[in-house]
Amino acid sequence: MIETLNQTKAKVIIIGGGIIGCSIAYYLAKTGIEAIVIEKENCVGSAASWAAAGILACRASTRNPYAELCRHSLALYPSLAKELQKITGINIEFTQSGVLCIFLTEDEKKNWEGLAQRRLNNGYTAEILSSEDAQTLEPAISKKALGGVYFPDDAQVRNPRLVKAFACAASKLGTKFLTGYSVDQFLFSNNQVIGIKSNKGNILGDQFVIATGPWSHQIANFLNVNLPVKPAKGQMIIAETAEPIINRPIHGLETYIVPRADGKLWVGPTIEDVGFDNRTTLSGIHQILASATQLVPMLANKTLLKTSAGLRPKAKRKPYLGKLTQYDNVIVASGHYKNGILLAPITGKLIAELITQNNTSLSLEPFGIK
Ligand SMILES: Cc1cc2nc3c(=O)[nH]c(=O)nc-3n(C[C@H](O)[C@H](O)[C@H](O)COP(=O)(O)OP(=O)(O)OC[C@H]3O[C@@H](n4cnc5c(N)ncnc54)[C@H](O)[C@@H]3O)c2cc1C
Repeated sequence: MIETLNQTKAKVIIIGGGIIGCSIAYYLAKTGIEAIVIEKENCVGSAASWAAAGILACRASTRNPYAELCRHSLALYPSLAKELQKITGINIEFTQSGVLCIFLTEDEKKNWEGLAQRRLNNGYTAEILSSEDAQTLEPAISKKALGGVYFPDDAQVRNPRLVKAFACAASKLGTKFLTGYSVDQFLFSNNQVIGIKSNKGNILGDQFVIATGPWSHQIANFLNVNLPVKPAKGQMIIAETAEPIINRPIHGLETYIVPRADGKLWVGPTIEDVGFDNRTTLSGIHQILASATQLVPMLANKTLLKTSAGLRPKAKRKPYLGKLTQYDNVIVASGHYKNGILLAPITGKLIAELITQNNTSLSLEPFGIK
């Protein structure tokens, strides 16, 4: 028989210790609420939140309310980086480096320039560059580039460090992390959720947050709720250079190369609809290398360190953020797909507001589960 672990109820139980769960824990801890984070792996942030490239691509959308959500999240980063460094000593390497998107074909030129124009029409920034201007900005890019678009507001962060910093800061402020605990059912009383059942025991709580990325569908299923979030695999290559070859992320041919401060390069990704298969494959790695070496030819003779893969949580359109209509004390924060690192700060902030004030500074209505 499974024993109840905590006789004292947790105010908030966050299921999932990825970047979204850890961000929510941090923002809640800042308001004085000591949540419990439950993570099935032996450490937090080992899934997509580790595998991601860490690009904060605010250019991702020009359509509100999603664009607004991205913009608000990016705006939180500069002070968050300082705050987390002060509390934990961890430098999350937030850099407002901009991103250079280059095009090698007329079709790509049309797409990128179209996006740049839409951004400019909506009052956002973007600079359309000639081939020469793009080469001046990043001399290592292919001489065959027809030009580029520079997005100066885009930024990057070292995402594994960010998850660690969120978790470490939350922990210092009183959050409890239970790693190696897998939630496999909810506990009910009078049709109300009163706790979770895990492989290591039951835990009672007042409020619950489902932040289990691509596994959120399974967790919601325990409540007979259909949450259409599915995995979208992304493979990456990690390479190393002694001297920096690029100064900022370079994007093109559906591939990007992201330089880190220590000389490592994150190169990828693939986007694959293969369920929970999280293997790196020869064809995936081949596809990445074929495109990346066209963008920056000198990449070909850099040192290959390793390959990795992660599963993006793909929702139907936008992430799901808010309370379940069926259960007033269960909140969902999932489905951030390609932009979970970008959106982690605003998600943490808004979900903490929802829990503590039952009200949010940005409307979550468009992100409800319909
Ligand atoms: C290759 C790749 C590149 C990417 N690049 C970028 C990028 O440049 N910029 C960007 O913004 N985003 C990027 N992303 C997307 C980003 O990584 C995700 O959107 C984000 O990490 C999702 O975070 P999450 O916390 O929702 O999910 P996850 O990181 O998947 O975390 C969910 C956690 O829940 C845990 N869990 C699952 N089931 C249970 C259970 N039953 N009980 C307890 N715990 C459970 C899992 O173990 C996991 O740790 C990329 C993703 C990939 C794969």
